[in-house]
Amino acid sequence: MENVVIIGSGCAGLTAGIYTARANLNPLVLTGVAPGGLLTTTSIVENYPGFPDGVDGYELMTRLQKQAEKFGARVKFGVVESVDFTKNPFWVTVDGELVVARAVIIASGAGHRHLGLESETLLEKKGVTYCATCDGALPVFRNKPLVVVGGGDSACEEALYLTRFGSVVYLIHRRDTLRASKIMAERVLANPKIKPIWDSVVTDVLDVKQDKVTGVRLKNLKTGAEQTLDCAGVFVAIGHAPNTDIFKGQVELGEHGYVTIKHGSSTSVPGVFVAGDCADSVYRQAITAAGMGCAAAIDAERYLASAS
Ligand SMILES: Cc1cc2nc3c(=O)[nH]c(=O)nc-3n(C[C@H](O)[C@H](O)[C@H](O)COP(=O)(O)OP(=O)(O)OC[C@H]3O[C@@H](n4cnc5c(N)ncnc54)[C@H](O)[C@@H]3O)c2cc1C
Repeated sequence: MENVVIIGSGCAGLTAGIYTARANLNPLVLTGVAPGGLLTTTSIVENYPGFPDGVDGYELMTRLQKQAEKFGARVKFGVVESVDFTKNPFWVTVDGELVVARAVIIASGAGHRHLGLESETLLEKKGVTYCATCDGALPVFRNKPLVVVGGGDSACEEALYLTRFGSVVYLIHRRDTLRASKIMAERVLANPKIKPIWDSVVTDVLDVKQDKVTGVRLKNLKTGAEQTLDCAGVFVAIGHAPNTDIFKGQVELGEHGYVTIKHGSSTSVPGVFVAGDCADSVYRQAITAAGMGCAAAIDAERYLASAS
């Protein structure tokens, strides 16, 4: 039987791995289909503390894994298909095999919603991005027109943040009013650098032939009119979806599917803890996920000590 099974190998999962390994719990970290998590998909991380010149996302995650393994964590490629938290010890089914664990840390992350355009996929990391906090300060976006797609709080936050870097920020929204909270909407509409474009959707990201973002094609949903807008970056902010489908009915999930935190890192099930973006709809940063991983590991360690 395992002491601790950690589901996910992003910043949250691997940090939980470091801490539980150093507590001699010999944790099993299950990678899922994306070993190293979301950060491996970005070339330069400039806001992770301790790296004044930035660090390659893949390199950072490789180092985290090595650090966890150095202390005895076993990082294993495997996708959790289902869990049964009604039993204690808990049942975790990984690629058809049953793993039984005294404690579980859920660190399965979250994904971004995409526009669903082929050009969006082809130009991802070449001007198309899903995180202004992560990428907004990159030189390629400085003093250039930028586009934010969305109309909720996240889109407004991204647009406001990007006014520090872009020459102008176009906010493309499919409706004629923002869905964001009143205060956020007021701030956006009062900002002279933000130009909302209402009732419109992005139909194409330009220019795949040049292998970088040079603009977007827009369609007005009310009039059908089309236009091209020049820009250096497209920040897609149409929502996130936590990777929590397999936990439905097993731990309490909030309205949008994020795992509900009861206190510290505890979930609704004693012995099951949570960390990172799968429980965080607000910050969604590598360092916050790592911090939550640390907290979950300490909580799991204390739970196991009190249970034995
Ligand atoms: C392009 C991009 C750039 C970014 N840049 C920055 C940046 O510069 N700075 C910053 O702070 N943040 C950045 N972020 C955000 C950062 O990557 C996330 O906040 C962070 O990765 C969250 O860590 P996590 O461990 O919670 O989840 P993730 O990194 O998403 O990891 C989730 C893990 O869970 C695994 N998993 C999922 N389902 C299962 C399953 N069923 N079974 C087993 N495993 C499973 C996945 O395979 C993965 O290993 C960026 C994000 C993106 C997309």
